[in-house]
Amino acid sequence: MEVLYNSTRSTGSPVKASMAILKGLSDDGGLFVPDHIPSLDKSLKELSAMSYQQVAYEVMKLFLTDFTEEELKNCIDKAYDSKFDTEVIAPLVEAKGAYYLELFHGSTIAFKDMALSILPHLLITSARKNNVKNEIVILTATSGDTGKAALAGFAEVEGTRIVVFYPKNGVSPIQEKQMVTQKGANTHVVGITGNFDDAQTGVKMLFSDKELAAEMEQKGFQFSSANSINIGRLVPQIVYYVYAYAQLLAEEKITEGEVINVVVPTGNFGNILAAFYAKNMGVPIGKLICASNDNKVLYDFFITGVYDRNREFVLTTSPSMDILISSNLERLIYRIAGNDADKNAALMAALSGVGKYEITEDMKEQLADFYGNYADEQTTAETIKALYEDCGYVIDTHTAVAAAVYDKYVAETGDDTKTVIASTASPFKFTRSVMNAIDTKYDGMDDFTLVDELSRLANVTIPNAIEEIKTAPVLHTKVCDKEDMKQVVKDFLAM
Ligand SMILES: *Cc1c(COP(=O)(O)O)cnc(C)c1O
Repeated sequence: MEVLYNSTRSTGSPVKASMAILKGLSDDGGLFVPDHIPSLDKSLKELSAMSYQQVAYEVMKLFLTDFTEEELKNCIDKAYDSKFDTEVIAPLVEAKGAYYLELFHGSTIAFKDMALSILPHLLITSARKNNVKNEIVILTATSGDTGKAALAGFAEVEGTRIVVFYPKNGVSPIQEKQMVTQKGANTHVVGITGNFDDAQTGVKMLFSDKELAAEMEQKGFQFSSANSINIGRLVPQIVYYVYAYAQLLAEEKITEGEVINVVVPTGNFGNILAAFYAKNMGVPIGKLICASNDNKVLYDFFITGVYDRNREFVLTTSPSMDILISSNLERLIYRIAGNDADKNAALMAALSGVGKYEITEDMKEQLADFYGNYADEQTTAETIKALYEDCGYVIDTHTAVAAAVYDKYVAETGDDTKTVIASTASPFKFTRSVMNAIDTKYDGMDDFTLVDELSRLANVTIPNAIEEIKTAPVLHTKVCDKEDMKQVVKDFLAM
């Protein structure tokens, strides 16, 4: 049965999957949502005998119904290949009674690779299907992780170019080194003399610049976005929850039909929404445990039914979760509002106006699948240390927020359901915070010495992504003022 995509903010005509991927965001500012969640048409037993790539096909074919089998398999094969340092793509590691689903074995060692390694292929396939002849130009503003994952995904992909803007003094040395050493003639990395908001605002202005769009059209270019609200990023994320359940079944850790819980360290709400979709496809998932850091806007929301972004923005050791507006939550709000676009649009207007909204009692009742909690900085650090001392397994700061919240959940409820914890980054990506949590004696050491220490301590070889940047030549040195972003893009496209 065909799945079409509606906007969360108006009841216009629904679009096919390829069009939703191409557009990214609906013209009315809403997000695209599937008109129904398809059920798996293979049993989890059957799926448990399949490779990651095969499971990816079985899940994604149900959502991307206007892709042919050949098109979709081609995208999957190009994405989940030797860029990943393990054939299983997303391994499960058992530690202290929980199963850590390691989503960081791709080229930039964070979970964004799971979706950004396939998005470029979905995008150019979508362009072809819709007779778009233009070259696709991806514009991204980044505070660190997304930029590198997008660069790695789009590098050398024919028919695409990518320009990434980052705040020159607002990312970590390792993050900057990762970006400025990016290879690929179609990639362009530019530092902005300003903060992340300046970069983000500048990119949004370029996206809505009609004059520039017309000029680009003439030269055979058009903009697109690799933003996390693109349905082409959400659908590939459903795959690993199905795969995790199937693997637990294959390894006889659970029996067929046994319910599991899932814990997700959450920022923009994309990853946990994918787990919710997996549940609705038929994977026996009980609780969806939403873990926040000190920016606990989601925890407060699950407790009170009020989403309120009016609060201090806290910088934490889990920066990829330092978010006050979780954009993907809109898809859940739309659903619990009974797929009522007007009702959702009114709430989102309140969010952008006064910075908060409140859902009704009836809507709140539909959130029973979710449990929200948070972990502060100290608890997060203690969790890393305790897990390491107990079993030698080292997790990153984001994953540690999830592990800490899981401990709170068990203490509160006594629920001993088997549990999968989404492990969203390699500890090597946040080496300093991880090592400081384990022992303060690491305080004075430089980043690369810490990397060697971590490798010894965790008994894990240093990932290629880190090894590479030690010696890789810097290929991007451009820095510009935010006023000059348009000219920089035009120069890159030789316009
Ligand atoms: C992006 C990110 C998250 C948050 O994921 P969302 O889908 O935005 O909720 C968590 N951990 C890491 C390491 C990330 O990069």
